[in-house]
Amino acid sequence: MAKKVSAGKDKDMSAQNMGKVKVKILVVTIIMVSLLTLTLLKIGYLQIFKCAEYTEAVIAQQTQASKVNPMRGTIYDRNGKALAESASVNTLICNPQQIEKDKAAEIVATRLAPITGLEYDYLYERLTKTTTRYQSIKKRLTVEETAAINELKDSKKNPETSKYFKGISFEADSKRYYSYGIAPHILGFTGYDNDGRMGIELMFDDELAGKPGSIISARSASGTYMDFQYEDMTDSQKGADIVLTIDETIQHFLEKNLEEAVTEYSLREGAAGIVMNPKTGEILAMATKPDFDVNAYNDITKFVSQAVMLDENEQLSGYNSENKDVQEKAVNLIMQKMWRNKAISDTYEPGSTFKIITAAMALEEDVVSKNSRFYCAGYKQIADRRIKCHKHQGHGSQSFVEGVQNSCNPVFMDLGLSVGSQKFKEYFNAFGYTQKTGIELNGESGSIYYTKDVLSETDIATSAFGQGFSITPIQHICAISAVINGGNLMKPLIVKEIRNESGIVKSYQSEIKNKVISEETSKTMREILESVVSSPTGSGKNAYIKGYRIGGKTGTSEKGRNNDKRIASFVGFAPADDPEIVCLIMMDEPQCTVRYGGTICAPVVGEVIEDTLEYLGVERQYTEEEAKTVTKTVPEVRGFSIEKAKETLTNSGFKVRVSGGESEEGIVDQLPKPGSSVMLDSTVIIYTQEINEDNLVTVPDVSGMSPEAVRRELEDYGLNFEAVGAGLNSTEGAYAVKQNIAPGERVQPATVISVEFRHASSD
Ligand SMILES: [Zn+2]
Repeated sequence: MAKKVSAGKDKDMSAQNMGKVKVKILVVTIIMVSLLTLTLLKIGYLQIFKCAEYTEAVIAQQTQASKVNPMRGTIYDRNGKALAESASVNTLICNPQQIEKDKAAEIVATRLAPITGLEYDYLYERLTKTTTRYQSIKKRLTVEETAAINELKDSKKNPETSKYFKGISFEADSKRYYSYGIAPHILGFTGYDNDGRMGIELMFDDELAGKPGSIISARSASGTYMDFQYEDMTDSQKGADIVLTIDETIQHFLEKNLEEAVTEYSLREGAAGIVMNPKTGEILAMATKPDFDVNAYNDITKFVSQAVMLDENEQLSGYNSENKDVQEKAVNLIMQKMWRNKAISDTYEPGSTFKIITAAMALEEDVVSKNSRFYCAGYKQIADRRIKCHKHQGHGSQSFVEGVQNSCNPVFMDLGLSVGSQKFKEYFNAFGYTQKTGIELNGESGSIYYTKDVLSETDIATSAFGQGFSITPIQHICAISAVINGGNLMKPLIVKEIRNESGIVKSYQSEIKNKVISEETSKTMREILESVVSSPTGSGKNAYIKGYRIGGKTGTSEKGRNNDKRIASFVGFAPADDPEIVCLIMMDEPQCTVRYGGTICAPVVGEVIEDTLEYLGVERQYTEEEAKTVTKTVPEVRGFSIEKAKETLTNSGFKVRVSGGESEEGIVDQLPKPGSSVMLDSTVIIYTQEINEDNLVTVPDVSGMSPEAVRRELEDYGLNFEAVGAGLNSTEGAYAVKQNIAPGERVQPATVISVEFRHASSD
């Protein structure tokens, strides 16, 4: 081209008469001709060599594919209860090419604005974006919104304007519902686009999501756009369903008990708990409290209402500040906190619950037997350190079993030192404490432990009673399961199987990671740990439940050094001789007066285990001693003669008091009413005349009293008594902590007052 131009210029220069204008015209003409030639050449090239590619592009301009969202899979509990499911909702869409830019768009935007709550300008901009045939306007319409928009489109109801709404249409989308409102940290949640953001929703997002289909909007043969006559090119494919190992009912028991504990013991940093089948590694329940509303995952209301002393924390207390910045910062921090699954993400010093592991390794290494003798002077001198027992005056002479029951630190320091650095580290590793468990949930933390080759005597001594390293609750419950299940370290399972319409796609089998100890050692450990709960002097007796054999261990640990922060914990399992369930609960920073795991945690674990075993249909077997305190149902004696009523009640094991004189009618009423459950030996009052409502009794305060004192006190008031809760295996030393009817209330005579007892524990 440069050559041609310069040739032209030469010609211009020789033609003297030509004006400047003419020169310019010529130059432009030459340039244009040259360009045209090149363009023609290029088109020729394209037509010959690039034909196919360009044809596709032209078709793409005529038709437009868009994604059809598939229905997300359901998350079930182990019994087929749908914990997370999707329901269809409408998305409002439009085809701007079917909406005339001025009049139609103005009318449509004006009418849609009040129905959808969207700004007129936003709507107008969407409706007039004619470069596309598909515009999403609003997701997740309510039923009312859909109905109102349908009315606008109805030519009978809106004969004048309905024609403008031709380009307005709906598309099916789905919304996630968590029907039971439980297990938010396990289920997690999905974002606005139905993408998994946390928990199972995140970990199994690929499986749950399904495959999107595509639709194509096409131009008809005559060249006009088809009126949303979509041709579904590929069907969307519903996501697979996930079946969890979680049992909704057991999860509910755990959550209920943890929630109560947070308030009752003022747990500044909340609580976490896990219920697991120790034989299979299946997680039956896992919870962190306080938590969030799984149906409104970024709403902090529930967390704030459950959390204690949020106002003490300078950063978090700003959530209700007037200052927007301060508020936003606090809300963000609270969200991070409330989404945290403490059961797998928090590491803590296990304290005395780790003594289970030390005892198991010592037995397995044969450095101790059940009858070995130990002596506790209240401390043990290790190198230059005097390490104390929690009982400062000392436990004195005791057997190995008593040492475990007493949770005596010097006994475990001795055991640790006998096992030695090398073996201690090997067992620590074999029990799974040096690795993440690999549970299929996001956010699992690893542990913090000694990495040096040889542990000092002080390191071993303190490690032996659970200090100096930090582990996660999930690691700990897996290791403890290995101790009681015959010696196998199981991989924890949270998912049972993945299913689609044609059946099971994948099923997760129990997996033994390690054989850590022998069946024999495991059996011995089960027996010893049962005695920790059942022995009248055992430190775990607050977890005791009538009729069930329970094993367990207490723990109270410091949270950091030189501060007053504590973590109270308890691990319990049942039935002790053949465990079906194991439950670990940790309470983070209790603010109550007594903060020992044995005092505040053991009863909660006891309750979770009791609820669970009852639900699983495990029958209670009472010892002779227990049988005496078992409750019985009061029989119906109304309508009976006095003689007959007395006989029936006495034969059922109740005392009888008659109120009123002889009467032809016989017994007209009774207290407690038939069907009430009371302890044997309770008094039933039978009435020959209508009960006088003025004869009410004031309930006395029995807190702190021994079981015997409570019985006498209530009897004096003409009331009946039922002992409930943990800690009743030995009445000696037990004291009342709660009564079901508050002191001062006025009740009918012979009303049953349920009183909960507990033992003092220093671990
Ligand atoms: Zn001791």
